[in-house]
Amino acid sequence: MVSKYLSIILAAASIAMADAPPSSKAEWAPAPGGLGAVLNSGPNGGLNGLPHSTYTKTKWPWGKLPKHCYDAAVGGKCDVYKVEAYDIQYSDCNLGANVMCRCETAQVTIDQLASDFGKVPVKARQWVSYVSAWPDSSCSAGSSNNRIDVYGDCTNSASVYFHEVAHSLDSWATGTNGAQAWSLGQEWRDRVSWDSCVSDYYAKASYPESWAQVAVMAAYHAGVKSVWELQPSMGCMANQMNKVIEQLVNNPIMKRVAGQTCDRRWPDDETVCMGPDAVAAGACNGVARRDEIEAAEKAKRMEKRFIA
Ligand SMILES: [Zn+2]
Repeated sequence: MVSKYLSIILAAASIAMADAPPSSKAEWAPAPGGLGAVLNSGPNGGLNGLPHSTYTKTKWPWGKLPKHCYDAAVGGKCDVYKVEAYDIQYSDCNLGANVMCRCETAQVTIDQLASDFGKVPVKARQWVSYVSAWPDSSCSAGSSNNRIDVYGDCTNSASVYFHEVAHSLDSWATGTNGAQAWSLGQEWRDRVSWDSCVSDYYAKASYPESWAQVAVMAAYHAGVKSVWELQPSMGCMANQMNKVIEQLVNNPIMKRVAGQTCDRRWPDDETVCMGPDAVAAGACNGVARRDEIEAAEKAKRMEKRFIA
């Protein structure tokens, strides 16, 4: 039994190792700050100093939320009655607004959220739908299904937004058309293997993380300063850098160009009611109560189980 378990563990470990750059690689941006510390500073404030697309914001009346934001709140991120939703309409996209949700207790304000996300050029930004802010003790972020969650005080951390958008680009703007992350293919593995360094410690978490970090460097190259002028020399990761510049800068996705506009948009989630308190306040007219839908779905599953 022990050996069987051990072999399963070893097999799982070898898969994990194969999916990440070797831990022996040197790191271009030293720990503990890593890449963010380099790119969020520098000339004119680095990525933080980039201009953002202008926007108008319209707050949703209390009581209704996009299903995505409701699910995040009841999943533990916030008291559902304390989630604010906003339509953030950027001036460079006339296909519709980005809906942003924010817990009342989140450290990031709605204007910080909208302006920092708006620093990402529209051809990249258009691959993300919902952007949300939640409270936490320090800054972090995550991306799933082209939706970004920002946690804690991410002020002056524009690189976080570029990094999360990059995960969507990896799957949707590199030719794989959503089938899988391009960075999981052989070419990226080869390029990492040819180079003697990766961007920083976080790049060693997985091939998609290493690609996303280089995508943030490409955004810096396009909007702040040539990466080839940075110290130490970019020579140790030139194979990675050249490829992502070709993917995201020569084809101006992570590069802001005057007059650029969006040419696509993800569809919206359904709108749901916050819950019984919102119904009682008369704030849910015309929309379903999510808790009632879930209760009905659960009853149906139970029924099926009894019939089967
Ligand atoms: Zn990531």
